[in-house]
Amino acid sequence: MKYLGAHVSAAGGADQAVHRAVEIGADAFALFTKNQRQWKGKPLTDDAIQAFRDACAKHAFSPGQILPHDSYLINLGHPEQEGLAKSREAFLDEMQRCEQLGLTLLNFHPGSHLNKISESDCLKRIAESVNEALTHTQGVTAVIENTAGQGSNLGWRFEHLAEIIEHVDDKTRVGVCIDTCHAFAAGYDLRSTEATQGTLDELGKVVGFNYLRGMHLNDAKSGFASRVDRHHSLGKGNIGLPAFTTIMQDARIDDIPLILETVEPEIWAEEISWLRAQASKEATSSH
Ligand SMILES: [Zn+2]
Ligand SMILES: [Zn+2]
Repeated sequence: MKYLGAHVSAAGGADQAVHRAVEIGADAFALFTKNQRQWKGKPLTDDAIQAFRDACAKHAFSPGQILPHDSYLINLGHPEQEGLAKSREAFLDEMQRCEQLGLTLLNFHPGSHLNKISESDCLKRIAESVNEALTHTQGVTAVIENTAGQGSNLGWRFEHLAEIIEHVDDKTRVGVCIDTCHAFAAGYDLRSTEATQGTLDELGKVVGFNYLRGMHLNDAKSGFASRVDRHHSLGKGNIGLPAFTTIMQDARIDDIPLILETVEPEIWAEEISWLRAQASKEATSSH
């Protein structure tokens, strides 16, 4: 079973995100549980929490179909004490909001070394940040998203993801989310069925599918290996449609949320139904 959806707006309350997901025919969705461009969010009220839980129950969304995303400001690998402390505090708050909403996954971008510490020190710092957040929460898995590798962002190599996981103490509460646009921009080819299978095999070898908790399905406006993060609608960018057909037919990617972060929300319903049709189409290869 493939769960499909999009990163929908939570304007008006987290429960509104559920309704927006239903409107586009989704059985998965992503959301921000607070304003993603601010450090501090208003605490969730009991009413807001109940409204979200009721909406999820009514529309049969289980926590495994929902992939909240944290704030863009957070840098869990920050080279400086003050920035690191601020990020860790904000990340813990994000994890606790998930706990309150009954959510079990939190998708985050690993962090940046800002050219002030080494890659390996930064990756260790990120893992320590995750350890700290996991110690103070229960039931929420920290889901590391691969990045395009813009600037000094880490997490663009599958090896970076594996190295963070290696230093996380509770392996049952750490996972990864693979964004196809980011992977492509980072130099993982997805321009054909064969190339996509090769990239997925590489992911399996370096990280392991047992850690895969979600995917972001985006085509790329940015070029192959450009290290530039620009999403596009499916089939309109430099990746093209075969990658998404291949993903929809790969059983290693079952039972996790597959989330569109494509640039035309008005065609999300169409993109979701096209993806569903790919899953039921006869496999394009015997791989
Ligand atoms: Zn992201
Ligand atoms: Zn993404």
